[in-house]
Amino acid sequence: MNIINARLRGREGLYRIVLEQDRIVEISPHSPTISAVSNDLDAGGNLVIAPFVEPHIHLDATLTAGDPAWNMSGTLFEGIELWGKRKAQVTHEDTKLRAKKTIDMLVEHGIQHVRTHVDVTDPTLGALRAMVEVREETRHLVDLQIVAFPQEGIESFTNGRALMEQAVELGADVVGGIPHFENTRDQGVSSIKFLMDLAERTGCLVDVHCDETDDPHSRFLEVLAEEARVRSMGARVTASHTTAMGSYDNAYCSKLFRLLKMSGINFISCPTESIHLQGRFDTYPKRRGLTRVAEIDRAGMNVCFAQDSIVDPWYPLGNGNILRILEAGLHICHMLGYADLQRALDLITDNSARTLNLGERYGLEVGRPANLLLLSAPSDYEMIRTQGYALTSIRAGKVIMQRTPAKVARF
Ligand SMILES: [Zn+2]
Repeated sequence: MNIINARLRGREGLYRIVLEQDRIVEISPHSPTISAVSNDLDAGGNLVIAPFVEPHIHLDATLTAGDPAWNMSGTLFEGIELWGKRKAQVTHEDTKLRAKKTIDMLVEHGIQHVRTHVDVTDPTLGALRAMVEVREETRHLVDLQIVAFPQEGIESFTNGRALMEQAVELGADVVGGIPHFENTRDQGVSSIKFLMDLAERTGCLVDVHCDETDDPHSRFLEVLAEEARVRSMGARVTASHTTAMGSYDNAYCSKLFRLLKMSGINFISCPTESIHLQGRFDTYPKRRGLTRVAEIDRAGMNVCFAQDSIVDPWYPLGNGNILRILEAGLHICHMLGYADLQRALDLITDNSARTLNLGERYGLEVGRPANLLLLSAPSDYEMIRTQGYALTSIRAGKVIMQRTPAKVARF
């Protein structure tokens, strides 16, 4: 299969991309003298890029909002209470069905790489077992990384450590954590040491829900970064949320940034979820409740955006469209400057792929997998401005999704 009239990010002119079986075998300047063949896909001068990435979602909780009841206050705490009730009805098939429906929504928006957290504070590890099956059964659609996520803590939950170890044995790819939720500061610190030991021993990646609060005294990020630094594991470690950083004072944050840069860890922000759930103890002025995305980016560190929830007790909206998250994130993080708009797609593509350690399994280069998207606009800026779409998604050289844009008639 060939893709013609393709515009590539960061390069002048139009290109022809040749796919053979499941690989990209040629990328060459488009030449009008080469005539199109019947199964050529015409990008029409619009962007062709590597697939979108969803680096932080909870597929075990999606599509449960309203069952057994809707979150009326919209708060994190009512969400936890409602999830406690819904969790009691979760079955193996229920988890698989909802996860697969959600993956279909992600695929329809051009996502081919997903990292999902799965709650392992469950003595049966039911959701984790179900997700390991989903990972196999959806391989033709997405690459799925599973995080062993201790929703109710590692140290504060009965047998928390053993459940984490068991989850890795059962096939989790990534070790998670939630230090700010542990009962005490000391437990938060020891949970990080435990999970970093577990990751180092087993070769797993690390992705910690870290300081997801407006409390400026929640400072587990420095512990995670220092553990990553001394073990030289930074590239394999991710701090998700870090929303407390939005409440740290600048003197502390400037010292913290020195350590963060030395550590080389990655960051994920979930802008729609955080703007919705944080700032809830404020009257006015009201905090945005996000980490310092623009500052992390400008300091040369790696940061990306994620959806976190789709229609669950914590967040009632979401349709799988990561471009919606990108647009919201750029607004909330003061990143609509011209330079930011020129490279906005980095936040849902290359930066996310780096966070997931995809390496040579990702990217529009000869020799890499034939996984790519045809978009509806010719630049990052125009994708944001026009609220563009992924029109075609190709995986392993085969079209897995095609979208027909709406037509407008004027009279
Ligand atoms: Zn999360």
